[in-house]
Amino acid sequence: MSPTREVYWNISAVWLMYVLLIPTVVIFFYGLYSHIRLWRIGKPEQRAGTFSQRLKQLWVYGFGHARILTHRYAGLFHSLIFSGFVVLFIGTLVVMVHEDAGLRIMQGKFYLYFQSLALDVFGLFAIIGVLLVFWRRYILKPQSLTHTWRDALLAGLLLIILLTGFVVEGLRLIAAEDPWAHWSPVGFVVGKLFAAFLPLDAFRPLHASLWWFHLLLVFGLIAWLPYSKLLHVITSSANIYFRSLEPKGAMLKLIELETAESFGVKSIDSFTWKGLLDLDACTECGRCQDACPAFATGKPLSPKSLILDLRNALHAGPSGAPAGDGAPSGNGSLLIGKTIQEETLWSCTTCMACMEVCPVFIEHVPKIVDMRRYLVMEEGNFPDSMQQALRNVESRGHPYAGITASRLDWCRGLDVKIMSQVGRADYLYWVGCSTALNTRNQKIARALVQILQEAGVDFAILGAEENCTGDPARRMGNEYLFQTLARQNISVLNSYQVKKIVTTCPHCFNSLKNDYRQLGGNFEVYHHSELLARLIEEGKWKPSGRIKGKITFHDPCYLGRYNDTYDPPREVIGAVSGSAIVEMDRHREKSFCCGAGGGMMWAEEPKEKRVSNVRAQHAVETGADILSVACPFCMTMLEEGVKSENPGKEIKVVDIAELLRGMDSA
Ligand code: SF4
Ligand code: SF4
Repeated sequence: MSPTREVYWNISAVWLMYVLLIPTVVIFFYGLYSHIRLWRIGKPEQRAGTFSQRLKQLWVYGFGHARILTHRYAGLFHSLIFSGFVVLFIGTLVVMVHEDAGLRIMQGKFYLYFQSLALDVFGLFAIIGVLLVFWRRYILKPQSLTHTWRDALLAGLLLIILLTGFVVEGLRLIAAEDPWAHWSPVGFVVGKLFAAFLPLDAFRPLHASLWWFHLLLVFGLIAWLPYSKLLHVITSSANIYFRSLEPKGAMLKLIELETAESFGVKSIDSFTWKGLLDLDACTECGRCQDACPAFATGKPLSPKSLILDLRNALHAGPSGAPAGDGAPSGNGSLLIGKTIQEETLWSCTTCMACMEVCPVFIEHVPKIVDMRRYLVMEEGNFPDSMQQALRNVESRGHPYAGITASRLDWCRGLDVKIMSQVGRADYLYWVGCSTALNTRNQKIARALVQILQEAGVDFAILGAEENCTGDPARRMGNEYLFQTLARQNISVLNSYQVKKIVTTCPHCFNSLKNDYRQLGGNFEVYHHSELLARLIEEGKWKPSGRIKGKITFHDPCYLGRYNDTYDPPREVIGAVSGSAIVEMDRHREKSFCCGAGGGMMWAEEPKEKRVSNVRAQHAVETGADILSVACPFCMTMLEEGVKSENPGKEIKVVDIAELLRGMDSA
């Protein structure tokens, strides 16, 4: 006889199962529909197209758990539970095909290896996964996780479903004297355990009642899914599928200034549908909060709470009460000051650490900037120090007050070509306000141009024609000022037919490379680390010696996370360092912000809450003699941080271009 089993052994009135299935499915789809209705109150946004690319993303990050696995513990239990339930689900489909569709596939080797052995093993995996969830939540208790009775109930329900499944199987294997019982090792052991305590004639009634109990729990779970945290099984997959495929640095949407009726996000329905889907996709894992430098330094910002607070606002009815009847809450009520506090929005450095770690690709930074846009462009309401910086940009073309230096002072005596005089050059060196106008950072520009001259690179600068790129304005929320500056700059660059640009500032680099594209500015933009690494690799510039002492490197957010540029600065350091780089714990994708991005360079921060101090401490803890940077903002912040945190400790903060020139020869 071919190995198989009777599907509804010992079960009568199977029709009742189909009757119960109907309300289960209705409740499930109604719940799903209620969410879709809520997302639809959002503004339109184009995320379709590139079907194959999106499917690939879903495969890698959704089914493959690529990001979840970067956290070992969470990756392990997620994979165990996910794979367990996927295999059990396929097993259920096989039963339906076999029994309901009448295709007798559940037999022979397939029955033994898949329907018996594999289902048992993966069911056990799922149990282990759920136990690991309990261990983490209730024994390890990481600070980033919130604990609600619903979470406990959900995990408990999953565990009971899995356990009762094995008990039902074990009772059948023993009572039916299944000849292939040992192919279901877990169920077989469970059956034997029951046999040790229960008389055999109790097996059948116990089996039948537990079978129905198990079924009711499974149906209950399916019906509850869209109303519970398990919804993320669906929403996170959808969110991954619809993730932005734009370059990461270009996450901010261009506002059509001429046609826009309002600016930024004022109420929950001012987000796009994708922004609202984000809110329902959050798994509440807390990784974003763990990564956030603002949260780590005690600022009133947790990216996780921000998303969950917005989610609550989405699900609240017009009165703020939960929309129990599923009525969309697009009531236009003000978010800022109620759901989200202004200080929360002005604590973000836009470092994107939250987005980099989020396993389901939730887009925190665009939401924060969109709400800033409302405050700045509709209300003119933002911190005084930032207002001053933007006023300076408007009136002086740079954000600094009290600066008397011109944009050409830094290059005195260096014979640097100016575009207006030479007309054309292979590269335009975009110096940037924070390099050209800050006495300390001028050394970075001097070091770079000396290397370029020695390497025979044909380059020129704009000099007095250079303006702020508009990056601080855009990240602070003043899209109007950003677009005005960007259009002017694009026009100047195009007038010299500029094709290639090199920058020493990752903020200028990102803006010129990614933001300007949205306004028709198409340039090949290089960060100086990339050009320097290439010149060294091609033998066009050779360092004159090796630097003694240990070097650590701080990855700038706008170079690393925004533009995935991690290796070139390390190659540059490697060319002059006598030893391997001593990395900080948080480096490359996990790098900790210096605290300057998103306009925070101009924010007042109390000393004990300075992000720069924490980062400087990370560098000091490596025992390095030199903290190498590749950004003038990082230079300013970390020099201050090092001085303030370690007044007695000698750790020099040096740009990679200065390192190549022997640190202080510029
Ligand atoms: S961008 Fe950085 S500072 Fe802002 S919420 Fe995300 S992690 Fe925190
Ligand atoms: S936003 Fe992303 S990283 Fe943060 S808690 Fe939600 S799922 Fe986790």
